[in-house]
Amino acid sequence: MSMKGSKPKPQHQPRWPSPMEDSDHRSTRLHDDGSSFPSVRLRRLRRSSAIRDMLQESRVDVGTLVYPVFVQEGIAGREPIQSMPGQSRLPVSLLVDEVRHLLELGIRAIILFGIPSRKDEYASSAYAEDGIVQRAVSMLRREFSSDDLTIITDVCTCQYTSHGHCGIVDGGRVDNDSTLGVLARIAVSHANAGADIVAPSAMMDGQVRAIRDALDDEGFKDVLIMSYSAKYSSSLYSPFRSAADSAPRFGDRKSYQLHYTNAREALREIEQDVREGVDIIMVKPAIAYLDVIRLARDAFRHPLAAYSVSGEYALVKAAALQGLIDEDSVVMELLSCIRRAGADIIITYFAKRAAEIINGR
Ligand SMILES: [Zn+2]
Repeated sequence: MSMKGSKPKPQHQPRWPSPMEDSDHRSTRLHDDGSSFPSVRLRRLRRSSAIRDMLQESRVDVGTLVYPVFVQEGIAGREPIQSMPGQSRLPVSLLVDEVRHLLELGIRAIILFGIPSRKDEYASSAYAEDGIVQRAVSMLRREFSSDDLTIITDVCTCQYTSHGHCGIVDGGRVDNDSTLGVLARIAVSHANAGADIVAPSAMMDGQVRAIRDALDDEGFKDVLIMSYSAKYSSSLYSPFRSAADSAPRFGDRKSYQLHYTNAREALREIEQDVREGVDIIMVKPAIAYLDVIRLARDAFRHPLAAYSVSGEYALVKAAALQGLIDEDSVVMELLSCIRRAGADIIITYFAKRAAEIINGR
């Protein structure tokens, strides 16, 4: 039987009772202005690919992506990171080419992580004038203006301390207040080299205020602070830690990073950063923490970054390499979901591939 032949005549169609007829069911009032089936057919909104495209509520734009770059002291060439297939550690000498490639793809922001050859208890190589990040930033700044490339630097001690913690250790514990001065010193040294944005990731109380004060005192009033405001203690960081050689030598980071069960506490952390003058707030990780991103989006008006971490990258990569999922579609779905949750900026190891997909390559 054809569809035409089976079409019922209008007078035979079932009709919802009007509020007058059905005063006991007041909820039907909502629907009686015609805003229900069959006059409303939500599937109309999805009837063609062009309409679906026009009505997309969130989009992944290349301009929202930030690519993490690992720069290492004492290596001669690109070194692939085993735990993160497709990612590499680079010597300073290859950075300019790397950034040129990113710019060709339309990616205009990087976040730099340094891997020094010298570590000590006080992370002194983290703020040395000739430190790995300082040299990397200076070189990039000579080549690319702030209008072309936004250079973000991670501000922490864990890659630079012999114990691998995100601060100064005293009596077996990370001491909050003595760490603040070190973080401020690292941030100023990055600003001095030409960083546009410094990104403290140590989860120390007062880190944003300490850094803001130091930057202002040193004349870097225009350098932004993007704080890892809600950074969780997550098992999803392990591929990064082997990449950046930053795993703690004893204990863990649970006394400063958030417990993964907590969301209200994350909002308090963000609120604290806001009071201290943060410019951009961040939630890390991203894909498993979309609810926290949404809560942060609803509670604060600050630009919001989401860091999709190494473990999230590795999970997708491992499944794709085994042929279990289609990598490109999963990548675009996950990044779109991070945007849908409310993030303005996405820091992701998939930035290059996503840019290629968006550019139709
Ligand atoms: Zn750290």
